[in-house]
Amino acid sequence: MVIYQNISLKPYNTFGIDVNAAQFVRVNTIEEVQVLCTTFNLAERKKLIFGGGSNLLLTQDFDGMAIKIELNGINKIKEDDNFVWIKAMSGEVWHHLVMYAVDNNYYGLENLSLIPGCVGAAPMQNIGAYGVEIKDTFEELTAVEIETGKLVTFKNEECKFGYRESIFKNEAKDKYIIVSVTFKLSKKGNLNTQYGAISDTLKQKGIAEPSIRDVSDAVIAIRSSKLPDPKVLGNSGSFFKNPEIHANQYDALKLKYPTIPGYPLNTDLVKVPAGWLIEQCGFKGKRIGNTGAHKDQALVLVNYGEATGNEIFALAKQIQATVFETFGIKITPEVNII
Ligand SMILES: Cc1cc2nc3c(=O)[nH]c(=O)nc-3n(C[C@H](O)[C@H](O)[C@H](O)COP(=O)(O)OP(=O)(O)OC[C@H]3O[C@@H](n4cnc5c(N)ncnc54)[C@H](O)[C@@H]3O)c2cc1C
Repeated sequence: MVIYQNISLKPYNTFGIDVNAAQFVRVNTIEEVQVLCTTFNLAERKKLIFGGGSNLLLTQDFDGMAIKIELNGINKIKEDDNFVWIKAMSGEVWHHLVMYAVDNNYYGLENLSLIPGCVGAAPMQNIGAYGVEIKDTFEELTAVEIETGKLVTFKNEECKFGYRESIFKNEAKDKYIIVSVTFKLSKKGNLNTQYGAISDTLKQKGIAEPSIRDVSDAVIAIRSSKLPDPKVLGNSGSFFKNPEIHANQYDALKLKYPTIPGYPLNTDLVKVPAGWLIEQCGFKGKRIGNTGAHKDQALVLVNYGEATGNEIFALAKQIQATVFETFGIKITPEVNII
């Protein structure tokens, strides 16, 4: 394990922000993670863990240790007539795990095809897309407790998954390094194609009885057409979460803005698409210096090349303030701002 000094983090974040880390280390095994925690006394150090860097906005040089997770391996650990339990190490590319599942006809992850990043970060915000979240198939994860270097297991309920939320963004923040995640996938076909864009794409292709691969291919096609590729245009996907507002507030807004979309979560709460709110405020496709909101998807803030993290952060704050002034709705970042 080599600890490098003063390393540019530009290749390690999908926004492509060029800041330096005072120290940089790659970890390839659970033992290396444990050594880092104990011998290097990680609990007392400033640290930042990197999977694929696709949910991070770096606003300044990092005067601590950047830790790049590179633990690899995907294994079937158990199966019965109906289910299979797949354990993936935290440095595996998320999409590779999805492709492994699709190749083997293991159902449950196909709607999450092509989400950037690594397996270890997936539970952090309970990644989700097209009507599916990882909490639906998540069995457990193993993490190294930073304070002690000991291995700890978190079952599904213990992770306190919510909409882009988990215990690891809250009370367990900065306390664990996730080393593996186990999913319970179904051997029997149980596809979720209700989401409008998926059923439309399948219909266009004339597919009435889709296979798991058809659904995965449809998701890949939709995502590729809608979202900017970070390799071409730096971004971190959806910058903000979709706000959940009180039904009374939604009803009042509906009178003023009849086209406002809303998805009731229960009798009290309605989820409103943040992208719609941002678009109404005139940010869609608007470029400010080296940054802006994407032309096709206002929720995605982009780096046109040389943006600093602070420029993007300033735009995010401007968007938040404008949405609040216009609609009285507070939108909060989904991206981790460092
Ligand atoms: C084009 C694009 C589209 C996207 N679409 C979606 C989408 O549809 N749905 C969705 O939910 N997200 C989406 N995202 C966001 C992102 O892909 C996910 O949040 C992904 O899980 C982040 O993985 P990562 O490895 O890149 O995490 P990173 O950005 O490296 O890290 C994210 C957070 O997790 C921590 N972390 C990372 N690995 C570990 C570990 N092993 N142990 C402990 N902490 C760790 C980091 O310190 C950081 O706080 C998208 C991003 C992009 C760029």
